[in-house]
Amino acid sequence: MSSSTPEQAAESARERVGLSSQSAQLTDQDSFLKCPACTESVEGTPIESYGKYRLFACRVCSLQFWEPRAMPDARWYEQMYGGRDEKLLPLEPGHRYFLSDPQAPRRGDLLDIGCGTGNFLAAARAAGYQVSGTELDRNAARFAKEKFRLPRVLGLTIAEFAETYPAEKFDVVTFFEVLEHQAEPCEFVERVKACLRPRGYMALSVPNRERWLTGPDVFDYPPNHFLRWSSGALRAFLSAHGFETLSIREQPAGVGYTAQMINMKLHTGLSRRVAGPTSESFRDIMQMGPQEAAAALTAKPTARQRAMRFLGRVKSLACVPLAMGAFPYVRMRGYKGAYLYLLARLVL
Ligand SMILES: [Zn+2]
Repeated sequence: MSSSTPEQAAESARERVGLSSQSAQLTDQDSFLKCPACTESVEGTPIESYGKYRLFACRVCSLQFWEPRAMPDARWYEQMYGGRDEKLLPLEPGHRYFLSDPQAPRRGDLLDIGCGTGNFLAAARAAGYQVSGTELDRNAARFAKEKFRLPRVLGLTIAEFAETYPAEKFDVVTFFEVLEHQAEPCEFVERVKACLRPRGYMALSVPNRERWLTGPDVFDYPPNHFLRWSSGALRAFLSAHGFETLSIREQPAGVGYTAQMINMKLHTGLSRRVAGPTSESFRDIMQMGPQEAAAALTAKPTARQRAMRFLGRVKSLACVPLAMGAFPYVRMRGYKGAYLYLLARLVL
């Protein structure tokens, strides 16, 4: 047993990871360097750094999480994910896995958290569910109501929903590509539980941390994503919150994904060198303040940047035949794609 006080221990932990007391004050001291999924203390050095953020790995449940974690407000997601309301989006793999999952219930009341433009809700309604959704992006929510005529898309967080409609319970709650954004996953999953009937179902997808990557996935960084899940970490987390896992599906790497990974591997730094320092990657833009990010997102590309984008498209097309050639090897090695889907059911 250490004789130091919790405050001293937290301070020395901060020193070990090279964070100043000032930045640490932004974080709840009690939760500092505790795994946000299993709550065990996490020691050791960060496995990755980006800007002011440090990535840690929990040895107990294997979750990887960034510190510090503070989710941006709804306007931030509107800014970063803008343009989703301009066209009909195809269903994502997680949506399709749920709709074809033989273990999932085939009807009942379904709530989709973060329903976006409503493409999944419309498909679920057509499949026989009574659907409701929540979405904080006002443009996406408007699109869902107008284009899909979805009567019930509420601009509430799951916490606000549970408080506003405490008596309303669902047979299924779904959240696709939502859990990796959460700063406090335990709180989130308890809110989901509060919306479920006894023996209710939960279906979700997250980016698979065990996917094949040949370079950094620029979307998978804070403050966009705070948590990196594997199937093992996810199963352990849900089990601790009273759910039994019924099915897990890890998308295998397909030809399109293989082409993306070859393209990423062939990245030479040429585009940044030629396009100049104004060519910001999404990962950098995410770290900016609202005004700076708005300027970067709406900046008119220079002729040179437009030429580089064109060459970039040519390069990515040129990767398709390479990917088709490489695909038998990719399949033989069992490389994983981006999506990790899971269906679970409340034990009680
Ligand atoms: Zn853990």
